[in-house]
Order: sequence, then C-alpha cells, then structure tokens
Amino acid sequence: MKASKLFFKTLRQDPSGEASLNAKLLIRAGFVDKLGAGIYSYLPLGLRVIKKIQNIVREEMNRIDGQEVLMPGLNPKENWLKTGRWEVPEMYKILDEDYGLGWSHEEIITPIAQKFLNSEKDFPKSIYQIQTKYRNEPRAKSGLLRGREFIMKDLYSFHLSEEDLDNYYEKVKEAYFEVYNRCGLKDYTYLGLAGGGAFTKGFSHEFQTITEAGEDIIYICEKCKFALNKEVKQDKCPNCGGEVFEEKKSIEVGNIFKLGTKYSEAFDFKIDNKNIIMGCYGMGVSRLMGAIVEVFNDEKGIIWPKSVAPFDVYLIDIGNQKETEQVSKALEYKGYEVLFDDRDKAPGEKFSDADLIGIPIRIVVSEKTLKEDSVEVKKRGEDKAELVKLKDIAQFLENC
Ligand code: ATP
Ligand code: MG
Repeated sequence: MKASKLFFKTLRQDPSGEASLNAKLLIRAGFVDKLGAGIYSYLPLGLRVIKKIQNIVREEMNRIDGQEVLMPGLNPKENWLKTGRWEVPEMYKILDEDYGLGWSHEEIITPIAQKFLNSEKDFPKSIYQIQTKYRNEPRAKSGLLRGREFIMKDLYSFHLSEEDLDNYYEKVKEAYFEVYNRCGLKDYTYLGLAGGGAFTKGFSHEFQTITEAGEDIIYICEKCKFALNKEVKQDKCPNCGGEVFEEKKSIEVGNIFKLGTKYSEAFDFKIDNKNIIMGCYGMGVSRLMGAIVEVFNDEKGIIWPKSVAPFDVYLIDIGNQKETEQVSKALEYKGYEVLFDDRDKAPGEKFSDADLIGIPIRIVVSEKTLKEDSVEVKKRGEDKAELVKLKDIAQFLENC
C-alpha cells in the first residue's frame, strides 16, 4: 500500500480536548477520529489493527468450540424487563423508551438458545459475537479504554450441569490468556477475582492489564501472581493463601462469569424441568487496542506488537529511487504487508511518521544504501539500524 494513496493524515500536535494518551497517539497517527466523548471512527490504519485483534480473538474462541453469530444492537425493552436490567445506568433508551441499545446480550442470546437447544443432546453449546456495544458511561475520558460505543467480544455458554460449566470456564480462561499473549500483553496481564457486577451475585474473574492509564486498582499476590480487585480485597490470596500483595493500576480487558441459572430462570429455559446453567465471557476488543497503545509507546509514538500492527514494514523512499518500488513488491510477494511511504515529503517527516505510526520494522532505501546494494533496516523501539543486502531482505525479516 502506498502512503500517498492511504486515507490518513498525521498531526504534529496533540489534538485538543483529549486527555488520554492512547487517544492522543491514535488520533495523531491517523488511526482513529473522535466524533464525541467515547465515540470514535476507525480509519483504515485503525481498522486494520481492530481486524487483527478480532481475528486473534476469533481463532481462540473457535478453538474452544465457540460459534460466531451477530446479534442486533437495537433491543426491545421486553427482553430487558424480564431480567430486571432495563433500569440500569448503562442503558441508552431510545424510540420513546420502547427500545434500548444493547450493552450486553444475555437478554437476546438466551431466548435464541431456547429456540434451538431443545433436548439433552443439544448441550453444551457456546455462542459468541464480536459486536458493537453501547453504554452510557458517565466518564468517557479514556479514549478507547472507555467508549460509549465500543467493540466487545461476548461469548455465552449453555450447560446441563455445574460441572460441565466449571470445566468449560477453565478452558475459556486459557483461551483468554492465549489472546492476551498473542496481542503482546503476556507480561502485563493478570487473572484475578472480582465482584459479579450487574451479571451475577457471585464472584467473577477478570483479566487486568497493568497500565498507569488503568481505572482499576488491583492487588497482585507476590507468591502466585493472582490478582484481587480492590472491590473484593481479602486479607489472604484465595488462590494460594499468600499475604503479600503489590498494588497496581490496571485496566480490565476481560471479565468472565458463572451465571448459573439467573438468565435461564428469567426466560424459563429448561430441559427436563431443570434450568439451563450458563456462563458469559466478555472481552473488550477496542479497549484492548487502547490498552496495547498505553503499554507500548515512547515519546515518539506507538510501538505495535508484530501480531496486531497495521502493517509489517514501513518502507521509506528517499530521493525517488526506482528500487524502492521493487523492494515493496518483492516483500509483498513474500506475504509482508508493506506501507510504502512514497509521499513527496522531507525525509525527516517520513521518519517522524514512521515512529509515530509505530510499524515494527522500518526500511529505508536511499542513494547511500543503494551504493552498498543494501537497504537500512531498523526495528521500532530500538536505536540500532543495520544495512541489509537487497537480496537478503526477506530472509532477514523472517528472523526479525
Ligand atoms: P468496567 O468495570 O471497566 O466499566 P465492566 O465490568 O462494566 O467494565 P463488562 O460488563 O465486564 O465491563 O464488559 C466486558 C468487557 O468489555 C470488559 O472486560 C472490558 O474489556 C470491555 N468494556 C466494558 N466497558 C467498556 C467500555 N465502556 N469501553 C470499552 N470497553 C469496555
Ligand atoms: Mg467487568
């Protein structure tokens, strides 16, 4: 993709009226556009990242037998009255308050499941979607971390016994860790205990990513690294009995719940006179994008982990070298996604944009490098650049 053709523009200055670092960087680098508090458009660069995260999530949900559906954002009031969740602060009520905008989807998936799961042999099943949620968030000042409209992956599972739910719940935990690992957040993300919120009276498990921008406080057990949310802080770690904790600011990137029969009771969803046992498992896809930016950046811009970067290579041409286009084509042929900065701009501007946008590998082609039959390769986030022979680039990148 040629940068001259790409629908984007970078800004040298921070956008006004934006307090959060992730939004400042994502707006400056041309990934998102702000429409209002907690409402963002994803521009081509941003959408590429969202799609990469979604695909990681999708692969991991499919691996645990999740089946993808897509439910409506526009929800009739009746469904929500059944569960007593119509009168909650999150709900946007619209169309003379006959409808609400979905902020979670137990109220929609439960009656659907009831239509299709009619006998014991239909169980267990797990259904998920990656969909736009709406929540009337009073404090939408954290960029993608807290949207009033945002992208969530929500998975729902249906079981005939508690034991079956318990087993599946453990599988989901593993799948969640796999997602965070693949998004580069392995060393920053902790599993912990939290309250049930508007979903269940019992406890739930959250996945928390450590970042200064986080709105939660967690206590990480020094012994086993299990985390406790401030709201459920206990004296001893419920996982290992440890008593020493480290306090950290963090953002909740996922939350999983054993719902029991709360929603199957509300919809009278039964098999052989026994209510179906459910679990629900949320993950903030757009919040993940924001969290990744909060964790991986420096004073020059974003530093994307390879797995979710909008492109693999940022290719800079200096002085209109005919070889640059060939390098671009050769790399694309090998399967690399290349953003070729062919714009008529000063080299300094191209270098600043490369740093701001944060693509993992920068390649420069100039008269100087070509004299050596080479290009200059540098990893974002590292200072060291090296010359690599034209014929060796693809091989070199494979080992990056
Ligand atoms: P928080 O405590 O941060 O408000 P929550 O507990 O209300 O989140 P859940 O209902 O558990 O959130 O939603 C599932 C997941 O969706 C969360 O773990 C989070 O990653 C994401 N999420 C929730 N609210 C938002 C939001 N306003 N903007 C972006 N992502 C969100
Ligand atoms: Mg939660």
